[in-house]
Amino acid sequence: MLYSMKMRAAQGGDHKLGGMHISGAERILAENELLATANAMIMRAFKHSRGKADFINLKIEAVDDNNLKYVKLLPIVTHESANLVAGRAIAAKLLKQSGVSDKAICRGFDLLDGLVTSMRGAMLVDAVSGKRLDDLTMRGVRVSNMDIADAQQFKCWLRQQNLTDIHVREAMVLATKVAFHPDVVAELCWSDDPEYITGYVADKKAYQRITRLKELGNWQGGRIFFIRPTANLKNLLEYLEQQTVLVVGGEA
Ligand code: AMP
Repeated sequence: MLYSMKMRAAQGGDHKLGGMHISGAERILAENELLATANAMIMRAFKHSRGKADFINLKIEAVDDNNLKYVKLLPIVTHESANLVAGRAIAAKLLKQSGVSDKAICRGFDLLDGLVTSMRGAMLVDAVSGKRLDDLTMRGVRVSNMDIADAQQFKCWLRQQNLTDIHVREAMVLATKVAFHPDVVAELCWSDDPEYITGYVADKKAYQRITRLKELGNWQGGRIFFIRPTANLKNLLEYLEQQTVLVVGGEA
């Protein structure tokens, strides 16, 4: 039996009552991993660079084995960028190669740069017209119910490549789940952690880190999923939010 564990932490009370988002995390775990992981998640909410949480919601639920999908981990590529302008140029080039139009790329950057507070989820943007397609305002689409199948092995594999940051681990799993859906063309992301300036572009072929996509000390982060104009939004949302996905790969 596997369990889903989800944590969301805020400062100034519950997110639902206006608290500021501090940190969120989720895992799919065997029973014997629950206690240690709960401990790590609580510590993360207390020691986050966005501030110390005063509200932590921790939820544990059994996973339905019949609803599990296995997806292969995307290969990882890193692009060094000397500054933000160079980083954005690399991201634009990669998005274009994935099939996102110039107009949608430009709109995507504007949407992320225009955020005054961070969203909790992602925006769905038409990969051709650049129009935002979800009507979820500042909540955005929360991708949920995913994890790496073998966490220990994945951690070792990342360490061998000098990628010890938790952001990479979580983002690769999320990006792999997202890119797998046929209606998703590409993803653009940078973190809302003010100390973490590396962002990425992901598509069906790779997860491509870009070492500088925002300025140090910037609290605004976000994600954009560029999707096909013909996408069935209801099916896509159901997959992103509900489908349990275990990501396989990351072997030494
Ligand atoms: P992070 O990489 O965790 O700093 O997140 C950066 C941004 O991505 C956040 O500000 C949210 O807008 C978005 N985000 C974080 N987690 C998720 C998620 N599970 N699903 C969709 N978007 C997310």
